[in-house]
Amino acid sequence: MSAAAIDLTLVIPLYNEEESLPELMAWIDRVVKANHIGQIETILIDDGSTDGSWKVITALRQTYPWIKGIKFRRNYGKSAALHKGFEAASGEIVITMDADLQDSPEEIPELMRMIREEKYDLVSGWKKDRKDPIGKTLPSKLFNAVTRRASGIKLHDFNCGLKAYRNEVVKNIEVYGEMHRYIPVIAKWAGFRNIGEKVVKHQPRKFGYSKFGWERMLNGFLDILSIMFVGKFGKRPMHLFGTLGVLFFMIGFGILAYLSYLKIIEDIIRITERPVFFFGILTLIIGSQLFLTGFLAEMISRNAPNRNKYKIGETLGLDHEESTEL
Ligand code: UDP
Ligand code: MG
Repeated sequence: MSAAAIDLTLVIPLYNEEESLPELMAWIDRVVKANHIGQIETILIDDGSTDGSWKVITALRQTYPWIKGIKFRRNYGKSAALHKGFEAASGEIVITMDADLQDSPEEIPELMRMIREEKYDLVSGWKKDRKDPIGKTLPSKLFNAVTRRASGIKLHDFNCGLKAYRNEVVKNIEVYGEMHRYIPVIAKWAGFRNIGEKVVKHQPRKFGYSKFGWERMLNGFLDILSIMFVGKFGKRPMHLFGTLGVLFFMIGFGILAYLSYLKIIEDIIRITERPVFFFGILTLIIGSQLFLTGFLAEMISRNAPNRNKYKIGETLGLDHEESTEL
């Protein structure tokens, strides 16, 4: 392995989970020792907790030297916490889990085996028997059905906090907003298509309360639109807007040309009273607007800092460097 030679990085985002942390760390320690998992690090990201979580983390580090911590000044959300954890992760395998003891560390060995032996890029947990109130499970079923259709990824439980990755995967995906719900979709767009699933045990919340409500679900739905759009057309916006724009423009132009013909050649007056006249003007305007939008988006994407940055898996006889210019 690489210089650091850490076998496993656990990435655990947390927001006001002081009661759960000691129990969770002790549990992880037991599992790691019993299964000879090797060198581990656990990155605890304190997402702006207002309780004593950070103090607890600092104290726990005395007992468990494999604990590392990142503390946010304020609550940025689970996605931001995961992103920072992914940046810092140096283990060969990276596993995320929630801090509230709902996810079981007992799943770690099998998840690692699936990544190592079955060569998955990502294995997502599936809380088949979910221990949450109906107000959570029902919207979640709907959400999963929509995401499955939109992304073409056959997972039952996209938003499970317990997931395992090859290190390379977490270094090549960017999660922000409420996008942690769609990590498998983001991974697929980044070119990591070997996505697996494992049924995992789920416990009811023991301490504290859930931090996710309806408001966040809504933002989550907007986020998948961004992911799908950016994934497909982010580097070539003109192909979407330009095509639609030209199409609309042609329809509008056709209609108005026909009406002009009627008026000028056939001398038919009152063409403005026809509904199709307004339809023609509308589509002509919408068409040119769409075209302009595509043009502007194209200019912006040309100047964006990540233009021509592509995910490079491997190179031969060259330094591994992302290309920046054509
Ligand atoms: N969490 C976080 N930042 C937030 C909200 C939640 O880091 O703004 C953490 C939380 O502490 C827990 C995990 O994300 O470790 C999952 O949150 P929660 O258990 O509240 O979600 P639920 O299981 O109810 O979906
Ligand atoms: Mg929970």
